[in-house]
Formats: sequence, C-alpha cells, structure tokens
Amino acid sequence: MNNCSICNSKDLKVSYFEYQKTTFKRYDCLSCSFTESEKLGDKESDQAKYSSKQYKIKNIYRIPILLNFIDFINYRLILKKFGLNKDSYILDFGCGKGIFIKFLSYFGFNNLHGYEIEKNRSKFAKNLNKNANIYLNSSEFKQNKFDFISLIHVLEHIKDPEKIIKEIKQKLNRDGILLIEVPNFYSASSRFAKNYWAHFTPQYHTNHFSINSLKKLLKNNGFKIKTCSTLNLYHGYNSVFSSFLKLIGFKSSNFYQTLKFRFYLLGPAYVLLFPFIYLFEVFFSFKSDGSVIRIISKT
Ligand SMILES: [Zn+2]
Repeated sequence: MNNCSICNSKDLKVSYFEYQKTTFKRYDCLSCSFTESEKLGDKESDQAKYSSKQYKIKNIYRIPILLNFIDFINYRLILKKFGLNKDSYILDFGCGKGIFIKFLSYFGFNNLHGYEIEKNRSKFAKNLNKNANIYLNSSEFKQNKFDFISLIHVLEHIKDPEKIIKEIKQKLNRDGILLIEVPNFYSASSRFAKNYWAHFTPQYHTNHFSINSLKKLLKNNGFKIKTCSTLNLYHGYNSVFSSFLKLIGFKSSNFYQTLKFRFYLLGPAYVLLFPFIYLFEVFFSFKSDGSVIRIISKT
C-alpha cells in the first residue's frame, strides 16, 4: 500500500506490531488520521473469516435487543427526524443476525431489507425476520433503491471502504440517508487501552477510523454530513467493559464468550459498573472522544 485508502496521501507512517502471536503491518496516514492494518500474508477470504470459531454465531438476540433498547429508541428518533416513515425503503447493509431489522419491524416499518455475506448469519437473520428481505448476494438487490441505508459496525471490516461507499451511493434515492457507525480509534477508551482496546482486533478490523477520516471518506464521495456523535450506549459500554477485561488478562476478545464463561463473577460486575462506565462515555462524548462514531449523511 503506497497511498491512504481515504485521502490518497502518500504521507504514511509504516510500522509493525504483534497481535496474538501474529505480525501485522500498520499504516497511519499523517494527513487524514486514518489507520489501516493488515496481517502479513493474509489470504483468507472474508467469508471464511466470519465463519470461523471466533465469529461463531450465537443463538441469542433477546439480550442484545434488551441492552440495545435505548440506542434503538435513538435510531427511531433519528429516522423520524430525517423524515422517514413506515413505508420508507430501509436497507441494513451488513445486517449480521438481523437484530436491527427486527427492532425496526417492532416499530412497524414495512419495507425492510438486510444484506449479509456470511451465510449462517444471513440464514439466522432470515429466520428472525420473516417479513423482511434478507440477501446473501448484492446481485439479488441490484435494482432496488433505498431511502435509508445503515452501515452499523461494518466499514471497519471492509478492505476497500471507498468501494462500498460508492456502491451505497448508487443504491440511495435522492436525499437518501446513510447512517454509519464505526469504533472511534481516537476515543478515550482506545487511547487508554491501546492494543487491549476491545475494537482493536486487527484480524477482523482492518480499518481504524477517526472522525476526520470518516467525514473525509463521505465528503469525497458526495455525501453531506448532517450529524456526528460519539455516544452509543450498547457498543460504548461493551467497548469499555471488555477492554477492561482484556487489560486485566482475560484472553478472549469475544465479549459474550467471556461473560458466559465467568458469569458469576462478571455478570454482577457488568451490572454494577454500568453507571460508572456510562458516565465515562457520556463525559468523553462531549469532547467527541466516546467509543463509537456515528455519522449521518445525506446524498
Ligand atoms: Zn489519509
């Protein structure tokens, strides 16, 4: 890689680091503060990666729905604020198990679509959302146009983020809304936990965004930025809590796996620490240093 994937600058700082006994190469763009990492000699496809044991699908959706509840109410308000109604065409790009779609259907949205390339997740999403259209291949919804597309914790995984943004632009109607959420690489929790940060999983997350680099990606592709925030209750909280677990020596980067494994110890800690961690996130979000970047933009 000679140029930054976001701003095309050649001003890259290259370094190497070890993560879980594997060597990774890291590129920091000194111009737009975008960071990219790659596993040396990585030939594994994305499909194979997300079918692996680490990303094994767990048959749960009620707990995330419960924990996500406040964020979901927030998404509902966002949809309303941007003029979307129950008949608007909505696509969750990289919908995973389809939990966001499930929530939108609870709220009465009728035209729900999800796209997920990992076949087990796609199947799960399909079973969970009988009234929605879940696609495994992008060719299946080539002709469709949408009023709202969400990319929630997707862009950090994709090798060529600009290609996806261009593709999405084509799929949005005029004045269509794009909601993006990615981990905030320059958040307080990330600066504090460094390589132990919950979202610093370079085998899966190849892109590490700053607010600046994400805005640049969108503006370069003709999107107008409407709002930007760094407060997300569910991902923010889990990010801080599981970074803390990694810092004190828990090996698994899979949060639910760790929680289940030591439930009697960690379950109460998860509940007791909630107000403190949440205050931490609220406080830092005022300085745009919360754990998750959420940008809403318009075509
Ligand atoms: Zn750059």
